[in-house]
Order: sequence, then C-alpha cells, then structure tokens
Amino acid sequence: MTETWRRKLYREIPKVDDFLELEVVRRTLEGHPRWVVMGTVREVLEARRAAIAALSSPDDASPFGPPLQEEEFLARLSSRSLPHLMPLINATGIIVHTNLGRSSLPPAALEHSLSIGGRYSNLEYDVGEGRRGSRQDHVTDLLCALTGAEAALAVNNNAAAVLLCLETLASGREVIVSRGQLVEIGGAFRIPDVMEKSGAVLREVGTTNKTHLADYRDAIGTETALLLKVHTSNFQVVGFTAAVETVDLAALGREHSLPVMEDLGSGCLIDLSPYGLHGEPTVQSVVADGADIVTFSGDKLLGGPQAGLIVGRRDLLELVRRNPLHRAVRLDKVTLASLEATLRLYFEGDRALAKIPTLRMISEPVKSVRLRAGRLHRRLSPECRRLLKAAVVSSAAQVGGGSLPLQQIPSAALSLGSAGYRAHDLEESLRKCSPPVIGRVHEGRLLLDMRTVENGEVPALAASIQGLIPA
Ligand SMILES: *Cc1c(COP(=O)(O)O)cnc(C)c1O
Repeated sequence: MTETWRRKLYREIPKVDDFLELEVVRRTLEGHPRWVVMGTVREVLEARRAAIAALSSPDDASPFGPPLQEEEFLARLSSRSLPHLMPLINATGIIVHTNLGRSSLPPAALEHSLSIGGRYSNLEYDVGEGRRGSRQDHVTDLLCALTGAEAALAVNNNAAAVLLCLETLASGREVIVSRGQLVEIGGAFRIPDVMEKSGAVLREVGTTNKTHLADYRDAIGTETALLLKVHTSNFQVVGFTAAVETVDLAALGREHSLPVMEDLGSGCLIDLSPYGLHGEPTVQSVVADGADIVTFSGDKLLGGPQAGLIVGRRDLLELVRRNPLHRAVRLDKVTLASLEATLRLYFEGDRALAKIPTLRMISEPVKSVRLRAGRLHRRLSPECRRLLKAAVVSSAAQVGGGSLPLQQIPSAALSLGSAGYRAHDLEESLRKCSPPVIGRVHEGRLLLDMRTVENGEVPALAASIQGLIPA
C-alpha cells in the first residue's frame, strides 16, 4: 500500500499537458522540435516520481514547485545541446594517459583531418590512373621508409592489428608464446583471450620469469604456425629473469620456416635514451632484428591518432590485407589523414620532437617544466598561495600507455594542500571545474604535474586554482 503522504506527493506532480503550457516550456518549442521538449518534460516528471518513490519519510521530500520544475527542465534541455566529450587539463604527469585520450594530436594532423574530413578526397581513388585506389596507399610508403619494413598496413587499433594477424596466420593452429608475455593491457585486452578469438591455439612455453630459446625450439611441431613475442608493456619482471631476444627468435623461425611476430605495443619510432628513457625498442630495430611482422599503436609513443600499424614481410602482409576481417577493422578517412600527417612529421628529424606533443612532453628539459610551474605559482594571489600552501616541488612524470612502467621522467609540480584545504577536497573541486583539472593526491598533497600541462593552459589552470578560495 502506498502511504497517504506519498500519494499526496504524487498527486502534486503536474500533468504533461499542464507542464507544456508553462510559459518557459512553450518558449523552448521555438528552438527545439516538439519531441525533444516532450521527452525532456517526461524525464523531469519521471525523475520526480522516482525521487518520491525513494523517500523513506515525508520530511525528506524536497520542494517541487513551478520555479524548480522550470529550472530542472531548462537544465536538462540545455545539457542535451552541450557536448559530453570535452577537453580537460591533464595535470597527472602521465603523458600517454589512456583514460584522458592518450596522445594529443599534432596541429598538422588536426589540420589535415579537417581538410580531408569535410570534403571529397582521393581516399580510394588513384588520381593519376583515373581508377580505384587503396586507402592504405596514403601511409604505406611512409611506414616502410620509417621502419625499414617491406610492407605496411594501418587498421583501427593495435588490438585489431594483433587479432587480424593471428587470425590470418594461425587460425586453427598453434602460436608459441612465452609464459612471461601473456599480458593483460588495460581495458581487458588479454593476449590469451585475443588469441582464442582469433582461433589460434596458445602454446605457452617457459616460466613466468625465464624463457629460453630451447623452450621455443622444443615446442615447435607440425601444428605450429607462428612464434609470437609480446612486449610486456605495463609491467616488468625484475631479478632472476631471461627472455629471448628478437634476433634469436627470428633465427629460430627461419630455421623452421615459421614466421615470427612481435607485438610491440607502444611502437616508438625514435630512440628515447637521450631523454633518459631506456629499454623501449624502436620499431626499426625490431624489423632490423628480423621480426617478420611487427604490430604497434598509433596513439601511444608514436603520438598520433588511434590506429594499429602492422609492418613486415610483403608476402605475409598481403595475406593479412586480403583477410575479410581487414575490412571490419579498417581506418576511417579522418583518422587516416591524421595518421598520414603525423608520420610525415617524422621526416623532419629533430623538429618532429617539437611538433608531436607526446614527444615534446617526453623530451622537454625538466628546467623548462619547472619554469612553467613557477609561472603558474606566480599567477596565484599571495592570499591564495598562503591559504593553499602552494609550492613548486620536484615530481616524477611517466610515459604511461603501458610503456616503460618503471621509468620516471624528472618533472615539476605545483603542490597544494593545507589544514583548511585538504588535498582530497582540492582534487575534487578542481576535477569539477570547467575545464576539469585532473591532478593526483600524493602523501596528503595535491600535485599538479606541469609536464603534461601546455603553456597555453596555464592561465585557465591558475584561474581554477584561484577560484578554490573565497574572492
Ligand atoms: C597497448 C597495447 C595493445 C593494444 O593497443 P591498442 O592500440 O590500445 O588497441 C596491445 N599490445 C600491447 C603490448 C600494448 O601495449
């Protein structure tokens, strides 16, 4: 039985037709189709009904008079016309942050996407010959020239690249992988699961910490289709360990006429060791070491749009290209344009570092990051600095995206937090700013790492921090 007080509250909810008669609501019909306005009205009334149903006592009922109904209606209607996907300020110090969109695209990539996306193009048309062309033609030569591979293919993402290659080369047959490389990348991409979906049969060899060439050799049989090496992107086994080098695995593969595939994950095209980051192999080096197929992401260390790049032996890539699954994971023209423009930047040598945001953030000298932190600090009022105990401190940024998990990049952060303004509260308030600011709480302080904040974002960031204290 519905209680009397609850029934009374339900009765106070206006009828849809009466609601539509409200002046405020009627006016919105001029700018919105009727079904949108009606839908929003129904939502407001439905939400009220749900709120009443959830009450445990009449004393908890919130008021719902006409002004509030109108406010609620307008708020819901306008939220519908605002974009949900929005920019934010990444002050986490994690450069390739998967939840925050991985790589920021180079301006050249955005411009090319804009010019291709809004018009007709030669996407699949050979202008010289006047006949059908391939969308792959726009990036194949670039990828081959950059990596030294014979052939190349670009698909939707690296997960798709791995799936497509396994399905093409090993469906119904065995793939030999080291037990130490059966990794899970964020978002439930697990190598054993992808392999199962591809129809390939996983043949694990070695142990968690050690796998030797002999382990692969002993596992090779009549059912073997492929030797697979997976870059352990997001973790590292340290201590008593052994993994087989690409060069040795490739030799073993040749000995047995078996292709060797390497899922590199990040896919770095430049040597990052001058910037203090060691151990991320470049795609070129893995190709030179003899891997027959190499797969990597477009939006990790490469610094471009979401894509999966496959480079390697021409005969194998031709099989991959002709697989019907290829069509299901192909790249869209806007992404392709962005990828093409990003790859072209690499031909400018060192200048690519400045033009590709991901590489710029990795390579920026810590001195320069610290100067930016200082500029942010100076923009705050003395009162704000005092109340929040603002200070420029040393911090540690990370590449992220599953690359180089244990290596930190020296960085600088603005540190905030005091007895009156606790770090967790500041973190939440900044997250709810417009644009949202994402920082991280470390040892009771809110750290805003400046390595991932662009110079142009400093004024907005300063204004948001200033807004945390009473004007
Ligand atoms: C990131 C990663 C993937 C998945 O790549 P996406 O481009 O995100 O699909 C696959 N394998 C490895 C080793 C990775 O690091």
